[in-house]
Amino acid sequence: MNCEIICVGTEILLGDILNTNTQYLSQQAASLGFNVLHQCVVGDNAARLAEQLKESLARSEIVLLTGGLGPTADDITKEVCCDVMGAELVMNEEELEKIRAYFAKRGRVMVEENKKQALVPKGGTVFANSCGTAPGCAVEQDGRCAILLPGPPREMRTMFETQVRPWLAKRSDSVIFSRMVRTFGIGESAMAAAVAELLDGTNPTVAPYAKDGEALLRVTAKAETQGQAAQMCDEVIEKIREKIGNYIYGIDVNGLEFAVVEQLKKAGQKVALAESCTGGLIARRITDVPGASDVFECGVVSYANEVKEKLLGVRRETLERFTEVSRECAAEMAQGARRLSGAAFGVSVTGFAGPDPAPDGRPAGLIYVGLDSANGTAVRELNTGRGGEGSREYNRTVAASNALHMVLKELNEHEAF
Ligand code: ATP
Ligand code: MG
Repeated sequence: MNCEIICVGTEILLGDILNTNTQYLSQQAASLGFNVLHQCVVGDNAARLAEQLKESLARSEIVLLTGGLGPTADDITKEVCCDVMGAELVMNEEELEKIRAYFAKRGRVMVEENKKQALVPKGGTVFANSCGTAPGCAVEQDGRCAILLPGPPREMRTMFETQVRPWLAKRSDSVIFSRMVRTFGIGESAMAAAVAELLDGTNPTVAPYAKDGEALLRVTAKAETQGQAAQMCDEVIEKIREKIGNYIYGIDVNGLEFAVVEQLKKAGQKVALAESCTGGLIARRITDVPGASDVFECGVVSYANEVKEKLLGVRRETLERFTEVSRECAAEMAQGARRLSGAAFGVSVTGFAGPDPAPDGRPAGLIYVGLDSANGTAVRELNTGRGGEGSREYNRTVAASNALHMVLKELNEHEAF
């Protein structure tokens, strides 16, 4: 079934506001199994909106419109839609009462124009607006349907989520289901090359993405039922596992920190941190996950060398001989964090976040990530090659991700991810 989206509003056309409604509705319609064919924006102009609507209804069974449902003279969507589709507008007493109550509750005067919002297409479905005054509606004609939604994104989304989505789901002849395969330690292009033969598939489709130093694959299937679509996705994910299984750390997880918290919980173990150049970022990412208190013991932001020495027990000889940005220092920081807390895992980061190279000439992006556990101490050396503008955030993110990944690897040493 085909679907398209029309956003109404001169302010969108002129670029005064970003058209976020289209993005949201496209994602929603696609996930409901509709073929999203076109998106467009029309100004607050009756003739052009009528022309566009006719064109859209000629090629799509479902047309989603947002904007222009308000009380002012430039709000014309409902009138134009009913005109084009031969529907009559009638006053809906229930909606009128809601609008009256809305104004009374806020102690505001309701003017005559506000009544216009309670006009609905005769025989059409009305969608109540729980966040504002203008109701939405569906106008149907000859198996085609226009769905009118308010412009303000919060009103539109709430209405869509609670009422329109279930209404549309009944009409869709298929469902679309996606799974996200998350990898770490392989670049997007290397990943794409490894799974190249799967990228040509049309159902399921396999699409590579890069995000925050990670490479992701979205697998999407279309089928009659969600169960069938999920099965189709899982078959392709099996093939992906055969090719890049070593790099996969989770399916449908929100990120490395979510996987770490989940795995630590499963293992009944905790982690403690000693962070230098990440300045608390790993602690932040772990504690962003609900339930982190079960697995997170403490984090020391040991920026100054005295803190590395006094609190974490890094030896002065180590600092003098190898400097604080070294494999040796990272190892002792991780050991210190573990000793200090009694956690099963001590994790450390020390390095040059950038943007400038270190005074001794070593490059920004040279970072050591350490992990200490009952199995000993391991250190990963990173050379991100990134300096200059924007490098600091990137280097810190990549360092934090590597630290989280080392914990995951250790937890899953004897198990496939
Ligand atoms: P109102 O009752 O507020 O007039 P309306 O349904 O008539 O609502 P519009 O007047 O078209 O909607 O838009 C109201 C506001 O909603 C816009 O000024 C804008 O801030 C926001 N808006 C409208 N359309 C979009 C869109 N496509 N994407 C993001 N924001 C939008
Ligand atoms: Mg308006």
